[in-house]
Amino acid sequence: MTFTAEREQNWAGTHVYGASRILQPQSVDELQSMVRESPRIRALGTRHSFNAIADGPGVLVSPVDIPTELVIADDRLSATVSAGARYAAVATELEAAGLALHNMGSLPHISVGGATATGTHGSGSRNGSLATSVRALEFVTADGSLRTVRRGDADFDGSVIHLGALGIVSRVTLDVEPSFRARQDIYRNLPWSAIEGDGLEKLMGLGYSVSLFTEYGDDISAMWVKTRIPEGQDDVEVPDEIGGARRDPRQVGLVSDDDNTTPMDGSVGPWHERLPHFRIDRTPSNGEEIQSEYFVALADGAAAVAAVRTLADRIQPHLLVTELRAVAADDLWLSETQGRDSLCIHFTWARHVDEVAALLPQIESVLEPFTARPHWGKVSMLDAAAIEARYPRIGEFRELVTQWDPSGKFGGGYLDRLVLGR
Ligand SMILES: Cc1cc2nc3c(=O)[nH]c(=O)nc-3n(C[C@H](O)[C@H](O)[C@H](O)COP(=O)(O)OP(=O)(O)OC[C@H]3O[C@@H](n4cnc5c(N)ncnc54)[C@H](O)[C@@H]3O)c2cc1C
Repeated sequence: MTFTAEREQNWAGTHVYGASRILQPQSVDELQSMVRESPRIRALGTRHSFNAIADGPGVLVSPVDIPTELVIADDRLSATVSAGARYAAVATELEAAGLALHNMGSLPHISVGGATATGTHGSGSRNGSLATSVRALEFVTADGSLRTVRRGDADFDGSVIHLGALGIVSRVTLDVEPSFRARQDIYRNLPWSAIEGDGLEKLMGLGYSVSLFTEYGDDISAMWVKTRIPEGQDDVEVPDEIGGARRDPRQVGLVSDDDNTTPMDGSVGPWHERLPHFRIDRTPSNGEEIQSEYFVALADGAAAVAAVRTLADRIQPHLLVTELRAVAADDLWLSETQGRDSLCIHFTWARHVDEVAALLPQIESVLEPFTARPHWGKVSMLDAAAIEARYPRIGEFRELVTQWDPSGKFGGGYLDRLVLGR
């Protein structure tokens, strides 16, 4: 299937693709032919990035129609899926086979290939980003041939978070583990004092996955704690109060009243029905928001949040909610969490495009002392020099891209300008 890209937009409607056409192959063979025949081509996933990272001057190719084709390894430690598969489909099939992923992002409707490419993460101070569970990637390279990069290969750490610059990923092999169960409990009205000193790090370590939500009012309005149930146990005891916040089992929407969030009542359920914020069987309404996110060292987290709070009056008129999450350090070259355990300071904005564009440099300025790294798939105003200063291995990544794609077949305006320096 092919779309004319004239009016094709990303999920949020914040970017209209400039590419001439969007191709949707039905098989890896077809994908290879498309790459072979296209002088300029970039991959498009499920369109959930908020900026122009996926766009390019030629055609876009989106492997989302290629069947999921989940194959579980004989040792049941890994599973291979089509890159265009959504986590929702992958998680459902894994659970049916008694297996699990280590973590999920907030929205399970995002493609595995697209999430991996930008370093998408969930939360949990001992959980790496979703890209850290990648064991191998199969790329369709510039001449249309297949090339697999495996964990342990020399280029692997540079190839996992690749922003679509190395080729079109056709299959991804992910670490899997035995299925587990989890519960989600919500605590309301956490005093700001609870995150002072080492309070933030302690809170982030309280559950398997912890998220703090705030609108920069008198307190942190909610803390979502996802607790992993140890094997052999039916449930675990959780406290009624944490740091002055009270447990409250009422089900609420995330940024709207929509009934699309995973159970918050402390009930125990399978991992894939508790780790994401949004339910697999509901689709959050499209758009009406912009997202930005910055990553700082977790040890600097409280100071960085305090710096952002100095802008509360300016932020509040445009903000739907801020979410604070923790992600463990990794070694992937372009990872937002490369080399440091991180706090992710996320903003879901109302679609106030001009006001948000004016506000972001102010936020980036107060976060400057923390060398805050922007999320590759969200909106930031940092320029190429600022990005270069924040990603220490970006030079090695550029060399890798030159080896893999010397003619720049997989390049795109946003990627070239901000990352590849061309
Ligand atoms: C409602 C919502 C919730 C979100 N929640 C989170 C969250 O919890 N945590 C988080 O970190 N982020 C989150 N994001 C951001 C999102 O996970 C990232 O932007 C992710 O990259 C989107 O994946 P996608 O499949 O839509 O890819 P796209 O946005 O379509 O593309 C993103 C990048 O991936 C590349 N790409 C996509 N597929 C392939 C492929 N097969 N081969 C090669 N390159 C490819 C593209 O070229 C592009 O560079 C959220 C976004 C939305 C809209």
